[in-house]
Amino acid sequence: MAQTVKIDNSITVGTLAEKLDIPVSVIITELMKNGVLATVNERIDFDTASIIVGELDVEAELELNEEKEEVTKRKPKLEAGVGDSRPPVVAVMGHVDHGKTSLLDAITGAKVASGEAGGITQHISAYQTEHNKRLITFLDTPGHEAFAAIREHGAHLTDLVVLVVAADDGIKPQTLEAIRFAKKADVKIIVAINKIDKEGADINRVKQELSENELMPEEWGGETVIVEVSAKNKQGIDNLLDMVLLVADVEDLRADEKTAATGLIIEAHMEQGRGPVAIALVEAGILRKGAFMVAGGTYAKIRNLEHTSGKEIAEAKPSTPVVLTGFKELPRFGDEFLVVPSEKEARSKASSASAKGGAEGKQDMTGGDLIRIIDKKNKVTELNIVVKADVQGSLKSVIDSLRALNTDEVAVRVVGSGVGNITETDIHLAATSNSIIYAFNSGNSDTIRRLAVRDNVSLRAFNIIYELIDDCKQELSARLEDEIVRTDLGRLLVKGIFKIAKEEVICGGEVTKGVISVPSRAIVFRNDEQLADVVTTKLQRGPQETKEVQTGEMCGVSFSTESRLDLQEGDRIEFYKEETVTRTL
Ligand code: GDP
Repeated sequence: MAQTVKIDNSITVGTLAEKLDIPVSVIITELMKNGVLATVNERIDFDTASIIVGELDVEAELELNEEKEEVTKRKPKLEAGVGDSRPPVVAVMGHVDHGKTSLLDAITGAKVASGEAGGITQHISAYQTEHNKRLITFLDTPGHEAFAAIREHGAHLTDLVVLVVAADDGIKPQTLEAIRFAKKADVKIIVAINKIDKEGADINRVKQELSENELMPEEWGGETVIVEVSAKNKQGIDNLLDMVLLVADVEDLRADEKTAATGLIIEAHMEQGRGPVAIALVEAGILRKGAFMVAGGTYAKIRNLEHTSGKEIAEAKPSTPVVLTGFKELPRFGDEFLVVPSEKEARSKASSASAKGGAEGKQDMTGGDLIRIIDKKNKVTELNIVVKADVQGSLKSVIDSLRALNTDEVAVRVVGSGVGNITETDIHLAATSNSIIYAFNSGNSDTIRRLAVRDNVSLRAFNIIYELIDDCKQELSARLEDEIVRTDLGRLLVKGIFKIAKEEVICGGEVTKGVISVPSRAIVFRNDEQLADVVTTKLQRGPQETKEVQTGEMCGVSFSTESRLDLQEGDRIEFYKEETVTRTL
């Protein structure tokens, strides 16, 4: 190959075109040929980029960028003696149903609800609790996918992971995912073996499994702190919090309070009367009400500054989870925020960020996605999916395209995703989470297909992205509730009563409007008062039974009624039809 091009771990389509000195459209077309839909500002990973440039007869060379690699790790510590000590930020993770939520409730419920104004009324993703007069910040990271986003965009904010493992269930796929994420982000893990009150609890077996997964318990000569708890009985909670503070002390967590405030947007949503509302975590500096802030492609003059407990505050120190209002537009999950001296600077920084495509690469998960996952009370019907694709770029495109189908009623929930062939772990994950596996250009062997059949997992493999999206669209459509469509038919003026029985009325009258027909329903009015809603059972023109009668014609009608209906001459009957219509997206 004649030419060589140096590419970072990832690169935007536009920059790649620039480097190769060719039109962007050529890159986009090549990507499409490979099943990747990407726009000029979207990032593609090195593997994808190297395939594309290879097809253009150029060789790609990986340019390792140490600084960028660091993003997935925690921020380097401040030098000894510099900065101010700050509370630890703890992410609680674990396999579904192992008791993450219960544990968080047990930790925060008792303490937060008693003191703070309002307490925690809704399920939010960050809050603080006090233990031994010291603060601890908790991040709820529902599902490993959300954590993946946090890890990518700001793992340096998480100091510790509390890994919840149910004593009666042991290590499961999402436990392993959590371990992997925490290790990759270089974050310390404290294991909380939960549900020790349960009959089937087998603490030793869990410890054995942990030791087999690089988490050797301290008592067995390893370094992993393990705390036995029961979220249900609130047993071991204080001990767990002691351990969190102990491990935090060893880490010597500090932040500089004197710099301009910075941090991360961890949730964003629209609220009636308040506009865009963001939940953010302060990382450094002190955030004050009235400050000007830029976050990704948007900016704010902080109108309301509240602690996530609901209390209004004048300022927030590092590690404080806060609720902010005053944004011009909704910031995005994963956007870093920065306080600047003036509105002018905030505006100009925001507009140059959005010109660059906003927070590049931060579209993996939107605030909306996170809220959907977090808010269990939400009425959104979710379709769990596991997505596999041949390369990172197409995986992102597939996931983005499927998420674009989400509405307020139905939404995909990506339980797992990855590059490469479908594996036994994928089948297992799909089976336990009741997910459909969508595979795009991913291999699947006979063994895998047999496993899928055995475990009742629907495995859907596609080579054309639009077909995959269509299939998912149909699945989501099938989860939409049917719509009942009502059509008005016509009106009858009652001119004679033939029979009034307990649950039946037969009358005669003139059709004064529209066309009445059977089967149908009807509402009976006397003057303007509604008397009953009845079912039309028979229609007669003279002695002949008929299906419909036009305006101006006389007819006899039989109705079935719920209770005795004393119909009178002069009553008005409005006929209508109700049809159940299946909706589609
Ligand atoms: P999550 O999916 O990890 O957030 O799990 P949840 O907190 O929703 O808990 C799942 C189920 O386990 C619920 O029915 C809880 O009541 C139950 N559970 C949680 N913690 C305990 C515990 O310590 N003991 C017992 N017996 N049940 C628990």
